[in-house]
Amino acid sequence: MLHASQQEDILTAAQILKKGGLVGIPTETVYGLAANALDGNACAKIFAAKGRPADNPLIVHICDIKQLYTLVRTVPEEAEKLASLYWPGPLTMIFPKADCIPDEVSAGLDTVAIRFPSHPAAQAVIRESGLPLAAPSANLSGRPSPTTAQHVLHDLGGKIDAVLDGGACSVGLESTVITLACTPPRLLRPGGVTLEQLRSALGNVILDPAVLNPLEAGEKAASPGMKYKHYAPKANVILLDGPREKYISYVNEHPVNAAALCYTEDQEFLSVPTVCYGNEQDPSEQARELFDALRRLDDLGVKTVFARQPKLDGVGLAVYNRLIRAAGFEVLKL
Ligand code: AMP
Ligand code: MG
Repeated sequence: MLHASQQEDILTAAQILKKGGLVGIPTETVYGLAANALDGNACAKIFAAKGRPADNPLIVHICDIKQLYTLVRTVPEEAEKLASLYWPGPLTMIFPKADCIPDEVSAGLDTVAIRFPSHPAAQAVIRESGLPLAAPSANLSGRPSPTTAQHVLHDLGGKIDAVLDGGACSVGLESTVITLACTPPRLLRPGGVTLEQLRSALGNVILDPAVLNPLEAGEKAASPGMKYKHYAPKANVILLDGPREKYISYVNEHPVNAAALCYTEDQEFLSVPTVCYGNEQDPSEQARELFDALRRLDDLGVKTVFARQPKLDGVGLAVYNRLIRAAGFEVLKL
């Protein structure tokens, strides 16, 4: 375990990466499992450690906008606009890839996903290593993404070279992913930069159907990560869609082997074990808390989890996108 507050630990992390190793690093979204993005062998180790399907591409992290132009073939005007508004920050953009991007990173696609994170420790490691860093979430594939260094150790301890502890992540959900390779641009994954913000910058932005709905059998995912089962705790999660009073009475009427994943204000009215994921009026808090809450649900050992469905606007869309996957798209309208 390395510590982001120690400059020598930042240098150690950078050294490991330069030698082709793997380091869990803090970012403002979630912890990333970093490797040299220009080294196919180093990136292959990411897939092995996570148990990640080989067709799910990696996001490349940079610490300077100039780096972008060395990694991609073209930068559309819309990308420059979004970069000026939201970089550094929780926004990933998809570009036609340059030849230096190994196949392991792009998973055979002709495109590459790029992000400039705002977390000072992430920037410091990228800067000190002198490398663009491929870094998917530092969890075992299928588990909730890690928002603390302890989550990373829990999933990947013994399989990676180090974790750099930079405290809890401030956004708490993975980055917004948008592709500008089509017209109009398409939101592939909602995150801390919202659909409303993207539309106010670019005009029309399409919401990819896979954000809200399961893929049909045989349908091709625009973002390969969308097709995999995600975030699921051991219990069966059911999203309950309805007002607070109905949620509370439904859960209290179905208490056997059940727990509630609820808003903080719901807790005192529920007669089953509860895990809270933030305040009803604060989607940013819900985003920050959700993955830790999903991990804590496993400790309760219940069979069913009744989750309160979040609102769908702003950052709420990103919260909903993760929860609906944790629930395997099982929603009960109250
Ligand atoms: P993770 O970093 O683990 O949160 O996963 C990265 C996400 O970005 C996955 O959902 C990938 O499918 C998506 N992604 C990465 N590269 C591309 C790309 N070139 N085209 C479309 N989606 C991508
Ligand atoms: Mg992930």
